Amino acid sequence: MRYYDRLIFELSKPGRCAYSLPCCEKAVLALPENLLRAQAPALPEVSEVDVVRHYTNLSQMNFGVDTGFYPLGSCTMKYNPKINEEIAAMPAFQTLHPLQDESTVQGALEVYYNMEKSLAAITGMKYFTFNPCAGAHGELTGLMIMRSYHISRGDLARTKVIVPDSAHGTNPASAAVCGLEIVEVKSNAAGLVDVEDLKPLLGPDVAGIMMTNPNTLGLFEREIAKIASLVHECGGLLYYDGANMNPLLGAVRPGDMGFDIMHLNLHKTFSTPHGGGGPGSGPVGVAERLLEYLPTPHVVKLEDGSFHIVKSAENSSGQVSGFMGNFGVILRAYAYILMLGRQNIRLAGRYATLAANYIKESLKDAYKLPIPTVCKHEFVFDGLIDDGSSTGKLGATTLDVAKRLLDFGFHAPTIYFPLLFHQALMIEPTETESKETLDEFIDVMHKIAAEAAQDPDILHSAPHNAPISRPDETAAARNPILKFQDEA
Ligand SMILES: *Cc1c(COP(=O)(O)O)cnc(C)c1O
Repeated sequence: MRYYDRLIFELSKPGRCAYSLPCCEKAVLALPENLLRAQAPALPEVSEVDVVRHYTNLSQMNFGVDTGFYPLGSCTMKYNPKINEEIAAMPAFQTLHPLQDESTVQGALEVYYNMEKSLAAITGMKYFTFNPCAGAHGELTGLMIMRSYHISRGDLARTKVIVPDSAHGTNPASAAVCGLEIVEVKSNAAGLVDVEDLKPLLGPDVAGIMMTNPNTLGLFEREIAKIASLVHECGGLLYYDGANMNPLLGAVRPGDMGFDIMHLNLHKTFSTPHGGGGPGSGPVGVAERLLEYLPTPHVVKLEDGSFHIVKSAENSSGQVSGFMGNFGVILRAYAYILMLGRQNIRLAGRYATLAANYIKESLKDAYKLPIPTVCKHEFVFDGLIDDGSSTGKLGATTLDVAKRLLDFGFHAPTIYFPLLFHQALMIEPTETESKETLDEFIDVMHKIAAEAAQDPDILHSAPHNAPISRPDETAAARNPILKFQDEA
């Protein structure tokens, strides 16, 4: 076993310590007897260098956008500029307390206000709440707004939400959490929402539709104007899952497409870190007529130019997080928007689209491309064209390709999602990678395709040089062992 494969508990030697304080000569305040442990806790006893090596080695077993290319489809793993971190770390921001009097936090409130204006300009929505802490949390908040709108009008029969079969899994999940019934609308052969399939689903029981555009296949829903008018005619609202906003930046606005409510993922499109599931931020925007249903607190600008927190409102959907969301994340995204400015933010979407199409066109000779059209920020292959089965050996699967990529220092793309294809391999390069990096990735993908045709066993046993190879993923997800199992 390598030194760094041991847990810190296994490095422990009784009596060893990293740091010792001088003996305290003053009387020590005695803790009440009933609060004392019967036994000392079983903490690891290790030297300073053991601690340093342990955590440094652990950090190097990790993979992040700061260590390599991360083409994880539907995730927009773009580089997180370090200036964002520098600004979020400024003491004036970092030492703020959410219970401070609003007269002492005017600068922070101005950040909320200006962010609302910026996102409104980018999306065509009118108002935003920054309370939701993730994309899915934003979806739930948006659906609560949708429901509040119908209920306040006495339109109580609207309990159904239409969700395309290509939707991100969080969409039906959020609708279910919100107590709404999910109705699936099919995709047509071009991978787009089938308008003919949608029509019969619309009626007086429909609260609305949830869509993302470009959809999860990276395809722009060309019939969106038609869909918007059909849904509005039946009395429903349109919810836009803006986690896929990256390719549209500065090009098209969901508000102009007819959407009424949307969320953005600041931790995708606006370059803040995804960091192990959080902290994130999923601001929700609404059209002007839905302002009264927006969650509180909400920052407004008063006539004297000062900023004020509206703490509650009669028809508000309520409060969806403690205080006002993850301020540090919102601040990072604000820094990103100001750094790019109106002109350059348009280029982010265009370069992301260019990079995705470049990879798609360069690899379609080796990987099956089920929908051979121009894509937006991402696209989906359906496995290898020649998966090695011709050699008589077991064919190489998408899982094999993904595992083999790790050996070359690349993060795997999203695999087996969306569910429309059996061997889905979903690639999203983002705009922040150089052409050299894209070319290197393309070369490696070709190399893997050649290996699959000649000697698929190399793929079946991959990865060969990652810290762990092929864990039982179901067991790891369902029964994770997250703490040291003390044998004693
Ligand atoms: C990432 C993503 C979400 C969910 O966002 P989280 O912040 O992970 O909750 C929803 N929809 C789409 C299309 C996404 O890509």
